[in-house]
Amino acid sequence: MGKGFFNVPIAINEPVKSYAPGSPEREEVLETYKNMFNSQVDVPLYINGEYVSTGNTRTMSPPHDHQHVVGTYHVAEQSHVEEAIATALEARKTWALMPWEQRAAIFLKAAELVAGPYRAKINAATMIAQSKNIHQAEIDSACELVDFLRFNVQYMTDIYAEQPESTNDAWNRVEYRPLEGFTYAVTPFNFTAIAGNLPACMALMGNVVVWKPSDSQVYSAKVIMDIFEEAGVPAGVINVVFGDPVMISNTVLSSPDFSGLHFTGSTFVFKELWKQIGNNIHTYKTYPRIVGETGGKDFIVAHKSANPKQVATAIARGAFEFQGQKCSAASRAYVPAGIWEEVKAFLIEDIKSFKIGSPENMDNFITAVIHEGSFDKLAKYIDQAKADADAEIIVGGGYDKSKGYFIEPTVILTTNPKYATMTTELFGPVITIYVYEDEAYADTLKLVDETSEYALTGAILSQDRYAITQATTALQNCAGNFYINDKPTGAVVGQQPFGGARASGTNDKAGSAQNLMRWVSTRLIKETFVTPTDYRYPFLGE
Ligand code: NAD
Repeated sequence: MGKGFFNVPIAINEPVKSYAPGSPEREEVLETYKNMFNSQVDVPLYINGEYVSTGNTRTMSPPHDHQHVVGTYHVAEQSHVEEAIATALEARKTWALMPWEQRAAIFLKAAELVAGPYRAKINAATMIAQSKNIHQAEIDSACELVDFLRFNVQYMTDIYAEQPESTNDAWNRVEYRPLEGFTYAVTPFNFTAIAGNLPACMALMGNVVVWKPSDSQVYSAKVIMDIFEEAGVPAGVINVVFGDPVMISNTVLSSPDFSGLHFTGSTFVFKELWKQIGNNIHTYKTYPRIVGETGGKDFIVAHKSANPKQVATAIARGAFEFQGQKCSAASRAYVPAGIWEEVKAFLIEDIKSFKIGSPENMDNFITAVIHEGSFDKLAKYIDQAKADADAEIIVGGGYDKSKGYFIEPTVILTTNPKYATMTTELFGPVITIYVYEDEAYADTLKLVDETSEYALTGAILSQDRYAITQATTALQNCAGNFYINDKPTGAVVGQQPFGGARASGTNDKAGSAQNLMRWVSTRLIKETFVTPTDYRYPFLGE
């Protein structure tokens, strides 16, 4: 077979399209949305390159129109999960040996399929399944997914190029092989890009995967699988099972061949899976790799020197885009008394201008939250804030689930910096603000650090470089992604590798070489050219 040190295409971020009125992309995505919304799709499991109908189905409905059915998906029995594991292990025999440039070509092709022929479809599926407005769908399911696929290929070659020193008489080489066994990807509802990236990046590194998407993201997961299939991912390399997460995880995690968990979702679920892996540790042939990106209670701190309009904009965008359902969404803010009245006026004005409704109407900035469980939880906290003496709702506070799960963007003002909504991840369009005395900046930074178990994202807004320095130091451990004079959301692959510590995850930074390193095992090969024939060293003398 011909050989070469191949250069991969230089990864560039996929440009975000505008979808402005009259643009061709707007017409195309709206037409695709209408067609998908008004038809029925059937989503089977995908095992060994075959679509598997189990007969046990559940319906799929858009969160913004929950009585409208857009299709059904099939639920796995334990035997399907076992089949997925067996088929993955069989596929590993050839996939792990496939030259890296062939694997790279498959995922680079997948990137171009997303960027081109599938762009409208994957965006429309994300608008329907997860109620994203078109801008949120575009930056997630089109651009971020493309970026993950392109940049990971580049990072893979960076990893392979990382080699030890050698000498004239000994050549040292490191080879990076996939993990022995199979890997397990468990993905959340909120990013189509994460759903695609978690199984894809492990497969890119030569692993085989059982992938369990979220029940609330099945429609867009199906489009991802169609793309992977068309891009040439061979049968058995990525297998998709839907259904009871406990049964699926129990089956996967009790296999002796389980070798890695790539999880994104809530903290509690990740800790339970970690515990289960610990309990099964004597079962496994190898120590499993565990990577998890989990919850957050992301903050914005304003210093008294901050520009009030900039603070209000950071809160309006950082807390409410995609209904506050980004893991990075700001959900607690600390504003000094000296600028609060101005910040408050700008913020209320902004929020009152938000239009709320279906993503099909492109005037809408805010759409529905993901499901009834999320709606009910948010409504409960909003009602509690209305009743509590140490909380006051200054804008929003309404909710209505008659047609879709709509929660008004809500700002709670509290006099208690440890108030329930300052500490608990709500995952919705609700932010709580605590106003501090201008001179209590250092104490407030300490408060920010100590208030939550999480450490995902956070932002400082200030015109004072000493205050910025002070916050950067004081908040070192409480945000994996820290923003200066910006909102704490919107990380871009290749620019801001993403992940948090403490209860927010293992901080392995999605979309980086650091993450891909978790999915390979290394072998050092030392080859000596002139092999010694005498055991004696010179120090032994004659
Ligand atoms: P979730 O924890 O409810 O679900 C995530 C996945 O875990 C889904 O596939 C789900 O079916 C599965 N799951 C649920 N219960 C399980 C169980 N008992 N055993 C095994 N699997 C189980 O999370 P979600 O609502 O889909 O997503 C929102 C959460 O994800 C938030 O906490 C958010 O902060 C977090 N998140 C974090 C990041 C990050 O990068 N840190 C990114 C996106 C989302």
